[in-house]
Amino acid sequence: MFISELFESIQGEGRYVGVPSVFLRTSGCNLRCWFCDTPETSWEPRGQHMPLEDVTAKLLESECDHAVLTGGEPLLVSEMVPLTESLSQAGKVITIETAGTVFLPVQADLISLSPKLANSTPSLERSERWHYRHEELRHQPDVIQQFVQEYDYQIKFVVDRPEDINDVLRWCDEFPTVTPDHVYLMAQAIEADVLQTKNAWLNELAETHGFQVSPRLHIELFGHTPGT
Ligand code: SF4
Repeated sequence: MFISELFESIQGEGRYVGVPSVFLRTSGCNLRCWFCDTPETSWEPRGQHMPLEDVTAKLLESECDHAVLTGGEPLLVSEMVPLTESLSQAGKVITIETAGTVFLPVQADLISLSPKLANSTPSLERSERWHYRHEELRHQPDVIQQFVQEYDYQIKFVVDRPEDINDVLRWCDEFPTVTPDHVYLMAQAIEADVLQTKNAWLNELAETHGFQVSPRLHIELFGHTPGT
């Protein structure tokens, strides 16, 4: 498995915010969001190759009950299936953070979907290849549908500007079984002051539409620092 980092911290986003967790971040992604906050797993993937057995042992060594498997795109890694089976058998509460473009039959207590909206696509100037590839891959309705039907889930949208809410509402219309209480709006920000500014208008938008706002607690507490 190509691993970017493995560390203990607290969950900073979504339903389990504040819960101590052990994190596994795989390196490699099939998308290229312009705002990616882990470019070391997407634009310039870095990491180390580790055998499945070693990754499993390290996660099981942790005293955290919660394991968060994230990326990059963790569901590009087929070993996620046996890994999640082992973690589940050991009683870990498993969250998988994915953009929801590929399906794998993993064991998970929570699938945390972060569908990528049009606001995520990199400009032609930045990368012509990735502009078109990202646009082609970022929305996979069948994959989203399968996760929503088969797992407990939350949806986290990265919102950059107030007008992005129109894209969020269009997305929700496409998946009528997704109820607003499963939906989190999350500000596109990697600095605490920008986060605070955006959260002011995000809170109003969320209240209007019955969504929740997800904090980015790790940014508030630690700034944008790998391994936190
Ligand atoms: S899907 Fe996630 S890891 Fe991949 S480029 Fe977008 S933000 Fe980065």
